[in-house]
Amino acid sequence: MLRESEEQLRAVVANAADSIITVDELGNINSLNPGAEKLFGYREADLMGENIQVLTPSSSGSDEASLDQAFQMKEQTHLGSSQEVLGQRRDGTTFPLDMTVSEMLLHGQRFFTGVIRDISTRRQMETTLRANEARFHQLAEMSPIGIYLTDAHGLYVYTNQRWQQISGLTFEDSLGAKWTNAIARQDYESVVNAWQTAIASQQDIIKQEFHFQHPDGEQRTVTSHAIGLYWEDKTISGYVGIVDDITLRRKAEAIQQRYATELERSNKELEQFAYVSSHDLQEPLRMVASYCRLLQRRYADKLDQDANEFITYAVEGATRMQVLINDLLAYSRVRRKERTMKQVSCQQILERSLVNLQQSIRESQATITSDPLPALMGDETQLHQLFQNLLSNAIKYRGDEAPRIHIGIEQQENGWLFSVRDNGIGIAPHYHERIFQIFQRLHERGKYPGTGIGLAICSKVVEIHGGRIWVDSIEGKGSTFFFTLPKVH
Ligand code: ADP
Repeated sequence: MLRESEEQLRAVVANAADSIITVDELGNINSLNPGAEKLFGYREADLMGENIQVLTPSSSGSDEASLDQAFQMKEQTHLGSSQEVLGQRRDGTTFPLDMTVSEMLLHGQRFFTGVIRDISTRRQMETTLRANEARFHQLAEMSPIGIYLTDAHGLYVYTNQRWQQISGLTFEDSLGAKWTNAIARQDYESVVNAWQTAIASQQDIIKQEFHFQHPDGEQRTVTSHAIGLYWEDKTISGYVGIVDDITLRRKAEAIQQRYATELERSNKELEQFAYVSSHDLQEPLRMVASYCRLLQRRYADKLDQDANEFITYAVEGATRMQVLINDLLAYSRVRRKERTMKQVSCQQILERSLVNLQQSIRESQATITSDPLPALMGDETQLHQLFQNLLSNAIKYRGDEAPRIHIGIEQQENGWLFSVRDNGIGIAPHYHERIFQIFQRLHERGKYPGTGIGLAICSKVVEIHGGRIWVDSIEGKGSTFFFTLPKVH
């Protein structure tokens, strides 16, 4: 009967998936099942009667208990509970194992059976996991963006350094605190409401913008993106989120907006001033000019030569001033007028300009050619001014040869690139920008007629239409004026 049950026990042990070793009270090996043979690299026969120390590293070099110690603890509390210890294979390599020791009596003798499981793979996974976790932790700490983790109730379980800077809370203060803790009072309600709405509508990423209030009262504007983390059964396990401090950006935007508004206001004011003053100056000036001319007509033979000369200067001055004021008025009349923007044909505008310029074209024997020009959205009167000014300049600033002028067109991604090329006197590079300013001219008064308003008007027209104007020229070799006009404003 006894023998029978011993046989049965042997059969169970031999077929067990685990490795099983039995030792006697002195720690001498009594049996080794096939699993244990494989695990340690011995055959049972090699180890029969050997002390368990054979399977134990001589000096583990670590704090971990070894196999023989686990068996020695058998008499105390460890019986029945599993322990993690180190074992040694036949080839000398050591490995971690999990062992549960139980006691049994056989023929009146005490034996101890250790059921052993190799846990190297698990250990390795744990080490890799720890290393990964350390790496991610390091990354999160270095991140220039605030990172946090909460549990399912929204209580912080992790915050990185940047988050602490942005929120004004220390790591210790944040741990276990509610996620809404650092939110400024004025935002609290809307943030919580928006959060609840986002959760209810099952949004994947919950985006919000609000303020963090530091304990010292300072507020930081932040954007926050959070996502839910889920257990396998789809219940929420917590939230992970990032927080970016956009205080400076928002401040800069506000300042920029203020400047833009201010600039628009002062531009309008300036335009209004130029318009009103040039308009109102016209009347008294007309009076000065006409009385000077009257003086000249009626008193020329009654006054001496000096007086006549002075009156001539006064008439000239007044006439010039009239021209300048008229130009200023023309310039200040070029304004953005949405209602006058419509589809216009540049080809027709060009033809109208050529009609207006026909006398100077004839006199200068100019040849003007053009690519087929498109239709686009614009202010017809202003575009007409643009074309006519550029063409009349191309004729006016001619060289010794008869003017040859070509209007080119090139389609670009969002609009058109126009060019007006001439073979005239050209412009030195350092004047290429100045000539577009109001009343800027490069020659003495008598040499070429004009006041220096033409290109300033061109520049304003192009700007109003959302384009750009510039010149490319070599002195003495002609100029090409380029301007862009977008298809849509
Ligand atoms: P204005 O012709 O009345 O002087 P603009 O504003 O039209 O005024 O031109 C400014 C200056 O730019 C001109 O005085 C002239 O020196 C120069 N300029 C303009 N167009 C040309 C051109 N096609 N070739 C050479 N110089 C030019």
